[in-house]
Amino acid sequence: MSQRPEHVVVVGAGLGGVRAVEQLRSCGFQGRLTLLGAERRAPYDRPPLSKQFLLGTWEAERVALWDEAGLAALDVTLRLGQSAVALHGTTVELADGSSVRGDAVVLATGVTARRIAGQPADVRTLRTLDDAVGLRAALAEAQSLLVVGGGFIGAEVAHAARLSGLRVTVLEALAAPCERVLGAQVGGLAARLFIAAGVDLRCGVSVRRFLDGRTVETSDGDTLSAEVVLLGIGSVPAVGWLDGLGLDLSNGLACDGAGRVLGTDGVWALGDMAAWADPIRGRRHRSEHWTSAVDQAGVVARSVLGLAAAPAAVPYVWSDQFGLKIQVVGRPDLADDVVPLHGDGLAGGPVAGTLAGYFAGDRLVGVVGFGAARHLLRYRPLVASGADRATVLTPVNEPTVGVR
Ligand code: FAD
Repeated sequence: MSQRPEHVVVVGAGLGGVRAVEQLRSCGFQGRLTLLGAERRAPYDRPPLSKQFLLGTWEAERVALWDEAGLAALDVTLRLGQSAVALHGTTVELADGSSVRGDAVVLATGVTARRIAGQPADVRTLRTLDDAVGLRAALAEAQSLLVVGGGFIGAEVAHAARLSGLRVTVLEALAAPCERVLGAQVGGLAARLFIAAGVDLRCGVSVRRFLDGRTVETSDGDTLSAEVVLLGIGSVPAVGWLDGLGLDLSNGLACDGAGRVLGTDGVWALGDMAAWADPIRGRRHRSEHWTSAVDQAGVVARSVLGLAAAPAAVPYVWSDQFGLKIQVVGRPDLADDVVPLHGDGLAGGPVAGTLAGYFAGDRLVGVVGFGAARHLLRYRPLVASGADRATVLTPVNEPTVGVR
């Protein structure tokens, strides 16, 4: 595709698809826009599902990504309740047999919750608003919850259930919760939050098999039961509908650094489903985080319209757990050393206010804070520039109040 497109078709009406539509318009695109979504519900945001919605402080209307006026202003044709089932060039085929042809296609079909073979139907997962409605109702009736998987979503659900007074057990196969994002050492701080909140946290333990929808046999030979069982063991890219096209689907859909799908012409992909070339990692990387989908939507819109690329954003992730905001800046997974920057959490003191710096050799590659938002601000540009240890560890006058 060499000319500016006249019709852009976006597949997947979640965060990435919605932001792609918005970014195309704000970059000046005046042609036709069509947004296709598998779910019948109008586009909504997912982070509140395991936070405000589960806690009961928000109702479903508040998670909507667009209101009527916003939708009208974007002049987008929205087709919901139809899955895309095939892609031929830049023509998308839908489950009802119809098809939509664009000059450019943007894919943002996200992920589905990972399951365990033989998982009973009443074991819950949390990806969609319907999942959240069901989980919230089930927790309201229950006294006990078993969460399999101590990642961000499992932690947030465990937190909500503890606030409602449920007995909560969390099984985590790795040595610490949230270890994939935080690493083992800082994951140990997250573990302390679980334990302080009264969660029965069992690390290094996985599910051997389900005995029924409420009972599991664990890898250490125990049998555990709860009225509600939630599986939060990660996700699988929603790319099955692209099978057979010769695309690299080995870890989501392989793209270049501007979201162009390798081996196609006029097709881009972004968000949870897409593995973008990451020059800093030196390989493709798939990020399953809110800010990443938003940033990528901006990059894709500019690329589709042939505009110059904006500077790359520093990755950012957050999670609300047990009354603290955990914030992750950069690429902590590249680090070979973790250094305390603020607070005493890594030395066994309070977790709140702790900020950890992640170094690869002499270079700062990431920062993780626990209720340390104001301190973290200083380090974002240092992560962006890959500052050296001496620069990072030089003391500066910083705010010491108002840190939660
Ligand atoms: P999605 O928002 O999942 O949208 C994909 C859409 O595509 C879906 O609506 C799906 O139905 C649709 N679709 C799938 N297949 C097809 C098809 N074949 N045809 C048409 N449509 C299709 N991230 C953070 O950084 N911080 C958080 O605190 C946080 N909390 C979260 C809490 C929960 C409960 C969940 C589920 C996610 C959370 N995330 C969080 C992750 C964040 O929401 C995602 O990274 C973001 O939604 C990714 O956007 P996306 O557009 O790639 O995918």
